[in-house]
Amino acid sequence: MAGLSRSLDHVKDHYDVIVVGSGYGAGVAAARLARAGKRVAVLERGREVLTGAFPSRFPDLKNELQVTGKRMRTGPSSALFDVRLGEDMHVLVGCGLGGGSLVNAGVALRPDARVFADDVWPGQLAQDGLLDEGFRRAERWLKPQSDPRASALTKFKAFATASSALAHAPIAPPLTVSFEAGVNAAGVAQPACTRCGDCCGGCNVGAKTSVALTYLPAAARYGAELFTHAAVRQISKGQDGSWNVHVRRLDGNGAAPQDLVVSAPIVVLGAGTLGSTEILMRSRAHGLALSDRLGHRFSANGDIIAFGYGAKIPINAVGIGHPPKIEGLEIGAAVSGQIEIDDEENLSNELRVQEGVLPSALAPALPVLFIPNGRLLGALQSLIAGVYKGPFAKLQTFFAVSHDSAAGRFVLEDDELKLVWPSAKDEPVYKRLDEVLSAIVKEAGGSYVKNPLAGTVMGHQPATAHPLGGAGMGPERSNGVVNHKGQAFDAGAGRGSTAVHEGLYVVDGAVMPRSLGVNPLLTITALAERAMLHMAQDYGLSFDDAEIGGTPVAPDDLGTIVTA
Ligand SMILES: Cc1cc2nc3c(=O)[nH]c(=O)nc-3n(C[C@H](O)[C@H](O)[C@H](O)COP(=O)(O)OP(=O)(O)OC[C@H]3O[C@@H](n4cnc5c(N)ncnc54)[C@H](O)[C@@H]3O)c2cc1C
Ligand code: SF4
Repeated sequence: MAGLSRSLDHVKDHYDVIVVGSGYGAGVAAARLARAGKRVAVLERGREVLTGAFPSRFPDLKNELQVTGKRMRTGPSSALFDVRLGEDMHVLVGCGLGGGSLVNAGVALRPDARVFADDVWPGQLAQDGLLDEGFRRAERWLKPQSDPRASALTKFKAFATASSALAHAPIAPPLTVSFEAGVNAAGVAQPACTRCGDCCGGCNVGAKTSVALTYLPAAARYGAELFTHAAVRQISKGQDGSWNVHVRRLDGNGAAPQDLVVSAPIVVLGAGTLGSTEILMRSRAHGLALSDRLGHRFSANGDIIAFGYGAKIPINAVGIGHPPKIEGLEIGAAVSGQIEIDDEENLSNELRVQEGVLPSALAPALPVLFIPNGRLLGALQSLIAGVYKGPFAKLQTFFAVSHDSAAGRFVLEDDELKLVWPSAKDEPVYKRLDEVLSAIVKEAGGSYVKNPLAGTVMGHQPATAHPLGGAGMGPERSNGVVNHKGQAFDAGAGRGSTAVHEGLYVVDGAVMPRSLGVNPLLTITALAERAMLHMAQDYGLSFDDAEIGGTPVAPDDLGTIVTA
């Protein structure tokens, strides 16, 4: 089965547009600009993983982990899970063609209106109506929907019982998952979700409506060329006004990486909060005049993952994968239930707590993580008995999202990105989340396990899978790195405070100047859609966002688009 990507051997020297990364923001830019007739190249550092090839066994999962810490690095550069160990906070991001959408839970929520009323955002965002249009387009393409059978799932019922401690009943949140077979907006035929629970390990069914199954196939259909193993190091301005994009080839099978330069008049950075901020910081270190706010206002989106062990009621929240590892068990998508704790007076107190599922490939590691001498127990017990019928059938996993002060800061140290946030662990949000989750776990009769990896190299630092900021939007360069359209402010001498670099855009999680208080994928997509609407006006481009018709393609055979 063939995919969308091609070897860097075929990359050209020059394009109309270079899109860096391939997550939500990058996917939108590639799809829209290719549809506008631009010659687009997408440069993604990770590899392409086709539906059916996501890790389903523990040994495969181990090869999907890359870990970078102070003076250490393990795992292949194309591993799907990219963990950055920080002295103050750890960050988890996805790596691969499709970015975080490959391994996320797909919860797609709009933030509370008060988030955008904060004057850290540029005023134009609230004024031109295009933010709403951005959300509408994002929803049309990612089709968030609630599981119609959520309330029948064991984990949802258990969550309802446990959250009665807080007098809150769970709802089924909208997910980027197709619960009925159908053809998506990009013309990809998606089967119905089997409720296997493996969303965060990668969907082997093709039911998760990821960027890899929507915006990227749409981009390829309109001629965009998608390259993997292409890590962008920095950008610089060429003599002719074009942007030079400095790329490191990572497909050398252990040979010394090769570097190459590709150029274009328009560069759209969508390499994620960590990726885009690092590229900009390195570019600034080599002379590109950017706002001195670059690296500031990092937020973890008040996000945590935590566990309850030893509940007295069945939970069934370990994935069974596809094909299923055990018959007769229905788990549900990675998130089926959410409780919403609102606060009309104080936005920062709002919480979204979601019950979650661990992917099936992680199952063999659970005894080691949760039970003293668990290694021995894991070896003695049959995994089926231990994970699906024994104590781990009562393991609760939670994802929770809220607000923080966005006081983290990135610096460039030895040419690599480093997150500095000494007071992160004291952010009030973590205490609030601990209180809420402890109450839920207690009601189910279990014990709250804040961090099963605390005894390892992970330590007690908080961790997030929702990194935001670093190249935040602002009204002008003294308070932002990009404007409301995603254009990078030009800090060159004599340039006005709102002057921008012609043709340099950022469209991913890095542009958020604050926490969103909800899972960020929908907002990132909406703001990228909005940026493209502005780009169309500014450059006289036209594209529509109508769904793509024609013969549907299978999610595990997207390559037919490229060869058509
Ligand atoms: C386990 C997990 C669960 C999550 N669950 C949810 C959820 O339910 N709902 C939700 O809203 N959010 C969720 N998130 C977060 C969400 O997936 C991210 O916020 C989102 O993917 C960010 O989108 P982005 O466009 O900013 O960049 P990303 O999706 O991170 O994509 C950036 C891409 O750029 C590539 N890249 C990075 N650096 C370079 C470089 N130098 N050169 C070339 N390419 C580069 C990366 O490999 C990646 O593919 C989850 C995240 C994780 C890890
Ligand atoms: S539950 Fe399984 S089939 Fe459904 S979206 Fe998640 S991984 Fe895909």
